[in-house]
Amino acid sequence: MKIGLDFDGVLANAVEMKVQATYDLFGIYIPPAKMKKKFILGEKLLTNKQYEDMRCHMYGSPEYHSTMRPVDGMAEYINKLWIGNTFRIITSRNAEWGHLAQEWLWNQGVKDIPLYTVNRAPKTERAEGLDVFIDDDIKKLKELKDTVKHRFHFIWPHNEHEINKKVAEPVKSWEEIYGKILEIKKDKEFKDRQAGRWR
Ligand SMILES: [Mg+2]
Repeated sequence: MKIGLDFDGVLANAVEMKVQATYDLFGIYIPPAKMKKKFILGEKLLTNKQYEDMRCHMYGSPEYHSTMRPVDGMAEYINKLWIGNTFRIITSRNAEWGHLAQEWLWNQGVKDIPLYTVNRAPKTERAEGLDVFIDDDIKKLKELKDTVKHRFHFIWPHNEHEINKKVAEPVKSWEEIYGKILEIKKDKEFKDRQAGRWR
């Protein structure tokens, strides 16, 4: 199967990095559950300019990347799925920030996965041909509705309010993703076998 992955919020825990960068830059502590642009601007925790400055400060910094933690189990389960599947990362980062993401990944014991940066454009074109896509941004998954059959929404405290089962199935861990992918694979193999029998 061909599996597509977002980077921040699926492979890397960028929220902790945002909390730290906001504190370092402005001396303001925003709890992880509130670390979403909608809440931050809506509740006037930061101005739009402060929010964008924080993103640039953090996503462009090798130092912040060196402290960024992986999402629990991500390397373990990707490596378990390595044989028999292919992976592709499609991130809304820009090219420079994508380069830091790729470097970070090499240090996490994850094998070489191609990484494409779309810089806030839809991921549709790059996702062509994928069976599965996992993202923590429901808007990105909505754009993939006609392109990727199996869409999974990675849930965190800051995006729980966006769950929309018509757009994507919510998942909370890599262990859960692993189980779902095995199920899809089994189902696909069963259907392929059935098709062969009746041909
Ligand atoms: Mg993301």
